[in-house]
Amino acid sequence: MTEYKAMTENERDRLNRAALDAIDEACEARRRFACFNSPHEGISVIREEFEELWDEVKLKQHSGTAMRKEATHLAAMALRFIVDLT
Ligand SMILES: [Mg+2]
Repeated sequence: MTEYKAMTENERDRLNRAALDAIDEACEARRRFACFNSPHEGISVIREEFEELWDEVKLKQHSGTAMRKEATHLAAMALRFIVDLT
């Protein structure tokens, strides 16, 4: 069985930064758009953000900045799904 090491402090700092970025994005989206009205609406928006991330991943020349931006959007919409619908 594979054993994994605990996160380093640097990894934990990066994780916190990513989570805060996703929360900021979810707050900004909430200022511009109403809450999700249904699980179907929420999953449609999540799928749209997933597809935008997938488009970046499929590029031959990956851009870390562009992938991070789209991954943050995806995480933000997942957070909105949790907050608005559960
Ligand atoms: Mg996006």
